[in-house]
Amino acid sequence: MRIVLMGPPGAGKGTQARRLSESTGMKHLSTGDMLRAEVASGSELGLLAKGFMDRGDLVPDFHIIAMIQQHIDHPAGILLDGFPRTVVQAKALDEALEQTTTPVDQVIHMSVDIDELVKRLSNRALCGDCQTPYSLESDPPSQPGICDNCGGSVAVRVDDRPEAVTHRMKVYQDLTAPVLDYYKSHGDVVEIVATGSPDEVFEKLSQTIKSGMPGVNAN
Ligand code: AMP
Repeated sequence: MRIVLMGPPGAGKGTQARRLSESTGMKHLSTGDMLRAEVASGSELGLLAKGFMDRGDLVPDFHIIAMIQQHIDHPAGILLDGFPRTVVQAKALDEALEQTTTPVDQVIHMSVDIDELVKRLSNRALCGDCQTPYSLESDPPSQPGICDNCGGSVAVRVDDRPEAVTHRMKVYQDLTAPVLDYYKSHGDVVEIVATGSPDEVFEKLSQTIKSGMPGVNAN
């Protein structure tokens, strides 16, 4: 089973994808996490990607498609978070999946009011090592700046600073919102209102995914 989790920056895709991966066993594939790991390792791709990421721009399609291609098959299924982000990436994913046994089964769009998104992003911090996300307001690390999960360093992402956030929202509208139209023209996109507590959103997502699993009644 392959699920594409879509939504604007701050919708909670990463947090929810992590929890869903734990509860379903599906593999969580986040292009943002993969790119941050490349940046941290100082690889050629990381050096190239860093400037785009810090500004809130998308890393060019060619590099993203090459990076993700060998990861899109997993026996337990895949939860795609942050990919595809352009129509070119969505088409490349469809083409790559034609070579494998399973297509994209579900596209889930997590929608959140814009004021709520800006508030969430200004409160968000991330572990630089294991990528565990925190909300500085409602779910901070037990010791300031130190990750509960791995002891790594927790900091606000450069691209969550206000100047980059405004730009990322525009990039989302211009380049990623058309991906939703692309998927809608091919089949269903399940809409989830992703406001409310993380537990409430997790519940909604779990039900949606369960109803889409082979052999499970949609009720
Ligand atoms: P995220 O953690 O998903 O918010 O991604 C952080 C940043 O990584 C984005 O603002 C982009 O610069 C880059 N990025 C992540 N996924 C993609 C993608 N599918 N296509 C292009 N750039 C991406």
